[in-house]
Amino acid sequence: MAGFEDKTQSAGGTLDFAQPVQYLKGVGPKKAAVFAEIGVETVLDLLYRLPRKYLDRSHIAPLNQLVPDMPATVVGRVVSSGILKGRKNRFEAVISDGNGFLSLLWFSGIRWAKKNLHKGVTISASGRVGEYHGLQIVHPEYEILEDEDDDDLMHTGRVIPVYPSGEELRRSYLDSRGMRRLVKPLLDRIGPDDLEFLPEDVRERLGLPTVEWALKNAHFPETVADADCARRRLAFDELFFLQLSLAYSQRGAKSQTKSHRCNKPGKLLRAFAEELPFKLTNAQRRVTNEITGDMQSSSPMYRLLQGDVGSGKTIVALIAMLLTVESGGQAALMVPTEILAEQHGRTLAKLLRTLSLKIAVITGSLTPTEKDDIWAQVESGEVQLVIGTHALFSEGRHFAKLGLAVIDEQHRFGVSQRAQLLGKGRRPDVLVMTATPIPRTLALTLYGDLDISVIDEMPPQKGTIQTVWRTEDAREKMYEYIEQTTSRGRQVYVVYPLVDESEKLDLKAANAGFEELRQRFAERKVGLVHGRLKAAERNAVMVEFFEKKIDILVSTTVIEVGVDAPDAGVMVIENAERFGLSQLHQLRGRIGRGPGKSVCVLMIGGKPSELARERIEALCAHTDGFRIAEIDLELRGPGEFFGTRQHGLPELKIAHPIRDVAMIPPARDEAFRLIEDDPGLQRKDHRKLRQEFLRRYGERFNWFKIG
Ligand code: ADP
Ligand code: MG
Repeated sequence: MAGFEDKTQSAGGTLDFAQPVQYLKGVGPKKAAVFAEIGVETVLDLLYRLPRKYLDRSHIAPLNQLVPDMPATVVGRVVSSGILKGRKNRFEAVISDGNGFLSLLWFSGIRWAKKNLHKGVTISASGRVGEYHGLQIVHPEYEILEDEDDDDLMHTGRVIPVYPSGEELRRSYLDSRGMRRLVKPLLDRIGPDDLEFLPEDVRERLGLPTVEWALKNAHFPETVADADCARRRLAFDELFFLQLSLAYSQRGAKSQTKSHRCNKPGKLLRAFAEELPFKLTNAQRRVTNEITGDMQSSSPMYRLLQGDVGSGKTIVALIAMLLTVESGGQAALMVPTEILAEQHGRTLAKLLRTLSLKIAVITGSLTPTEKDDIWAQVESGEVQLVIGTHALFSEGRHFAKLGLAVIDEQHRFGVSQRAQLLGKGRRPDVLVMTATPIPRTLALTLYGDLDISVIDEMPPQKGTIQTVWRTEDAREKMYEYIEQTTSRGRQVYVVYPLVDESEKLDLKAANAGFEELRQRFAERKVGLVHGRLKAAERNAVMVEFFEKKIDILVSTTVIEVGVDAPDAGVMVIENAERFGLSQLHQLRGRIGRGPGKSVCVLMIGGKPSELARERIEALCAHTDGFRIAEIDLELRGPGEFFGTRQHGLPELKIAHPIRDVAMIPPARDEAFRLIEDDPGLQRKDHRKLRQEFLRRYGERFNWFKIG
């Protein structure tokens, strides 16, 4: 180990960027474990762990200019500290900045504060200034900037970087001060040619600094403007490599001649069109043409179909599937839940009654014999249309002649899953469908490898949905409304949240709600459906509901996506404050599917957080899914927006898909141009770029085997 340490110490030696952080001076196994938790394994990871924000000293309030009630960030040196005994013990640190003094107080976390905030330590502190025998901040947010013994290293200049830091990191002394201590000597050892991978012309066109400059200025900037410029460069890199991966994905998808080229629509589709109980909307017609056009061309379709909940995507997919079948191939429809697979199975069977096609539904809950039996028919080509959950493509079974794969509700399938699907042997046409409307530039980030079709028009004569929220004291009124609704022959959904961690509790709530409703509405038929039921039971309940044998359906969020019962006129969502905005919108999309007015009642339990209130109000005010998605994005931030449902978003650590949106088009242009010019990144001047791409994306995209 000593050898390693010597090596890091020797100034001018080449820095080994792949070296595990554990062997850096001052790290060791314990801190390395803490680092590993946050994804920092190597020296390079450490260098790429950027400050969370920067404090500009010129924006820091001098202590003699504080007034009560102002929110302030201050910097000062602790001149005295200790525990003050009293009715309530508290820890006080008095800081000075040479102009004045301020008292910082802790009523809890005293031990930890005491350990850190001894005399001589310089800290930054933020909070609202209070007054009680002089000015003070209670429980400020604080950062230790330097200790007495590290002034030269910790000389921070005009701008103070503040690193992300949790309790665990602080305890391990990996707070801002600890980070700077570690990073500074490493930065000093980066040579001018060590890291740069972007071709010079790209950098020049976009006015970007070098990686070396960017890293140095991200950690130790002279000015906030420098820090911003640095961050921009590093953010660009992330977006650029993402687009590069999308460019490869698209190339991989389109470059091959597909196994199965479709004919012009013929008899089967005409027969189907005659059966349709409605006319396609203009938007549906347009996207259908785009899709069938792709399918008749010799390169594989790779297309995204975007359309709000209820815009009628299913029928478009069905047309595409029938075109495949008519041209002699098999078509598969992959959906995220078993309920949905079963429902689509029924709908298709009904719509295709007169067409004598063979349809199979494959879900995880079939018995092994049933499964073998169905797969045998798929493998022989006897079955033409297959519907299923991702069991469809994950069980290593094969289709005799798969011509089209449709992926419904795409937000649960990410780039790499798409890649897997495409990576398998013969190349089918691929259509992915999503109800999450997102701005175009963002779509380029998430689905930049796909062509995009948008249904921007809702089917006519659809009912309207009114959304209201009510609290517990209106429950009786709400029940009366359910009574009226059901007596008019319309159906009601009552939905309970099902959040993973408290699954058992939530299930209990749904069960209890079911019992209560059963007693309250003794004359009505009340049903219950949730994910823990066996597929057959669940299926039976849903069929009863679709056949209107059930008046009130109590459920968990299993009905969230795609379930379609036109006579459901009311949806009550219990504990609506616990749902996300887009999720509420999806849920609400289950009603208003037939004509007339439908009502969505959001029941609020307890006192909702401010954020929850904003969500509820947004949902009551808007029905346009596009607007809802925007608000959701604003409220939650993209990390969470995409993190929870949109597993597709590759990790962007530095770039921010909203804030840095302006960089997406140039990143895309550069990446796509590069792949056009030098597909394998084989040119000598692209060697480093290729290395860096493989470092970042090699695992996910190894099936590309570039070069
Ligand atoms: P989504 O886009 O959310 O998947 P669906 O495909 O489930 O929407 O369609 C919603 C409802 O609208 C379904 O009941 C469907 O039969 C109906 N529908 C679809 N297209 C039309 C149309 N052109 N005219 C009338 N109703 C339509
Ligand atoms: Mg749908």
